Amino acid sequence: MILILKADTTKSDIADLKNRLEARGLRPVIMEGAEKVAVGIIGETRSHLPADQIQALPYVETIRRVSDPYKLANRVFHPEDTVVDAGGALTGGGNFSLMAGPCSIESREQIVEVAKAVKAAGATMLRGGAFKPRTSPYDFQGLRGEGLKLMLEAKRETGLPIVTEIMSIDHLPLFEDVDMIQVGARSMQNFEMLKELGKTKKPILLKRGLSATIKELLMAAEYIMASGNDQIVLCERGIRTYETATRNTLDLSAIAVLHERTHLPVVIDPSHATGVARYVPSMAAAAAAAGCDGLMIEVHNNPAAALCDGPQSITPDEFVKVVRTVKAVRAAVSSANAIQAKPISVEQVIRACAS
Ligand code: PEP
Ligand code: MN
Repeated sequence: MILILKADTTKSDIADLKNRLEARGLRPVIMEGAEKVAVGIIGETRSHLPADQIQALPYVETIRRVSDPYKLANRVFHPEDTVVDAGGALTGGGNFSLMAGPCSIESREQIVEVAKAVKAAGATMLRGGAFKPRTSPYDFQGLRGEGLKLMLEAKRETGLPIVTEIMSIDHLPLFEDVDMIQVGARSMQNFEMLKELGKTKKPILLKRGLSATIKELLMAAEYIMASGNDQIVLCERGIRTYETATRNTLDLSAIAVLHERTHLPVVIDPSHATGVARYVPSMAAAAAAAGCDGLMIEVHNNPAAALCDGPQSITPDEFVKVVRTVKAVRAAVSSANAIQAKPISVEQVIRACAS
């Protein structure tokens, strides 16, 4: 529910409203516009907040129910873009992140060599899996705790913040020095894990499930936020369709839809989306043109020998070219003013509620 307060509402009226809402177990979000104040209400308003009682308050002008089930993740409760800070690497609100590295950490030499190469090319974060969600139990499962130690060595050597996947909440203590925790596509609806990650203050990279709708992705983010953590980056990595020419189908329209519906940043992973290294550069450029807030790309120093996802991994030299193209595309799009500004103002929220 969103309330628009009358223009002459005082600070003590707002304090009175806050007290009334909190007494009913609801969470008010105060959004101050130039002339009026909008108040978003998070929680079960339908049963806990009779509209007639609220409308009777002398300072309330308009009441609008928000039918979307995600509230904290909803743009109307938080008009400005969220900026996620992972060890100094910023994503969102105009900050573009480039997360690059191998699918899996395979050895000290491999991860440090790739880390140095992607850093030199302009990556802002190093990616690499220590715990790998493999379809077959007979495939390489990752170096697990040992892999995380090697990832931290690569971080020390290069200064790059790291992002790596968690598969069980029991492993959380191992992630203390990890800058951003990845929730993989297969774990997007592990609700107990999402709740526990919400209690940490760690930035989270939340990947869209293989068959998840955009609404389900936003509800997964809502789980993390409802537990207290709003440092979330959403990642579109391709969804299952009837098409078999690519590993998944990259849903580029998710960028436009998500930017409209949520304030959380959106990153695109063209590697898992296409499954084919030669398709990665053009899809990275397309995602940048559509206004994504970052890219996650698999880069391997010897893709042919990779223990996981070699066919979709590009080389460091190819990554250099991708970065150059992505930067040129971003510059062209911004100078052409081609993409609608994402943040909405409190005034727009107020106008939308009044209409
Ligand atoms: C990965 O990023 O290594 C990965 C396993 O991705 P996804 O969860 O999107 O399949
Ligand atoms: Mn992979």
